[in-house]
Amino acid sequence: MIIIKTADEVARMRDSGRIVAEILDLLEERVVPGVTTLELNQLAERECRKRGAKPAFKGYGGFPFSICASPEDRIVHGFPNDRPLPEGEILSIDFGVVWKGFFGDSARTMAVGNISSEKRRLLKATKRSLELGIEKAWPGNRLFDISHAVQSHVEGLGFSVVKEFVGHGIGRGLHEDPQVPNFGPPGQGPLLRSGMVLAIEPMVNVGKGGVKVLDDGWTAVTLDGKPSAHFEHTVAITEDGPQILTAI
Ligand code: MG
Ligand code: MG
Repeated sequence: MIIIKTADEVARMRDSGRIVAEILDLLEERVVPGVTTLELNQLAERECRKRGAKPAFKGYGGFPFSICASPEDRIVHGFPNDRPLPEGEILSIDFGVVWKGFFGDSARTMAVGNISSEKRRLLKATKRSLELGIEKAWPGNRLFDISHAVQSHVEGLGFSVVKEFVGHGIGRGLHEDPQVPNFGPPGQGPLLRSGMVLAIEPMVNVGKGGVKVLDDGWTAVTLDGKPSAHFEHTVAITEDGPQILTAI
């Protein structure tokens, strides 16, 4: 059942989303060669405490950390660790909080120093596909209009969308209905309505699709070992169009 939020609830979700954006900005500043993802996890926890917010992922389904840190061929749900990040890698950080009962969820893939032109193209394509998906989040459109906008941009550039993981509704729960796939036929799927809040989150591979989950039970990696990127925003659908809540 899709949950429709009131304007007041959307306004409260904006506070949660802003905290996520602020902390992701701080994390991004710290992503330089030599930093470890455990240090980034600690920074995220400290910044949550300062603001009185609760990290959304820690303990969710047993996930043991506050950020998901997924470098290179890691797609999503990677564990932070003590390996210093080398120049030239990419790192996806997925982060969420709960604030006064409402969740915010956002992800970005970041460059560690200078990266190859192929990785730059991957990041740009993934970020742009998110923007194009968000542009379809208007009342009266269909859910798969978003999905199709993501997929057609990504595939048009020769990359592939991950089909095993999808976006989701969000609000008083981290994961609510509906699922928001990054592929699908335009003009189909549930009718979008004002008051729906969606986490739209393209995951894009340089190579083919196909996912393997590592022995930790969480970390999803590409089957072909090639890099993968992930961008996500929490987006409210309003009469005035889409509003990105996980932005400052
Ligand atoms: Mg997320
Ligand atoms: Mg999400």
